[in-house]
Amino acid sequence: MNFYIVELLLIGSVVLGGAIVSYLNATNKNQYIKLALAFSGGFLLAVIFQHLLPELYGAHQGHAHHAHEALPVFQVGVFILLGFLVQLVLEYFSGGIEHGHVHVHKGQAMPWTLFISLSVHSVIEGIPLGNMLQIGIEPESQVPFNSSFLWGIIFHQVPVAIALMTLLLATKIKRSAAWMILLAFGLMTPIGVLLGLAITTEQLGMNVQLILAVVVGMFLHISTTIIFETTENHKFNLLKLLSILLGSGLALGLF
Ligand SMILES: [Zn+2]
Ligand SMILES: [Zn+2]
Repeated sequence: MNFYIVELLLIGSVVLGGAIVSYLNATNKNQYIKLALAFSGGFLLAVIFQHLLPELYGAHQGHAHHAHEALPVFQVGVFILLGFLVQLVLEYFSGGIEHGHVHVHKGQAMPWTLFISLSVHSVIEGIPLGNMLQIGIEPESQVPFNSSFLWGIIFHQVPVAIALMTLLLATKIKRSAAWMILLAFGLMTPIGVLLGLAITTEQLGMNVQLILAVVVGMFLHISTTIIFETTENHKFNLLKLLSILLGSGLALGLF
């Protein structure tokens, strides 16, 4: 996958989310958006269990073209846990917008702490994508590109952008300013990709793939929270269950 295509898809997913709110007037309370969120949760969860965890625990060892450095399995576990806890702390400041959850009050002030913690989350999740795109390094240390990981980020980026734009349009700031802030958010994951392109295991002093382990921990938190929150008051909702299954099924079927 080409670097420019990855960056365009990432920015495009945020613009799409913003346009859905700005032009279609659909907020994060819309039934279809909630189904899309459930879909993204199922998709992410399947990508984690089917691709990312096996890869972190060395499933690709031995494949000649995939043979990258072996990761110490105990470290992998610690970094996954670390990612889960980092996301927990970030959501304390962001109110859970990473899993599409916002509380909108008309005329509220611009929530900068939310914006900053969401941005930190987004930069971190871009770094492993950049690692996967590094070219010109020896094939043995190349992290295999994982398109399921890219689509997992994209599918979860759209509902996050919808939630953020819903919030931004409810504040007192102008529509044009809301778009500027949304676009600034849209640049965060691409910036993470650039960082990931630049840093190597040698510079970091630890295997760069461990950052993927952190992101997997963050995604575990996000996807399970999405799925948990799709059942309002523990009421069974067939459509949402089907959306989760569709998301998981698509992730398993496509990649
Ligand atoms: Zn929530
Ligand atoms: Zn994210």
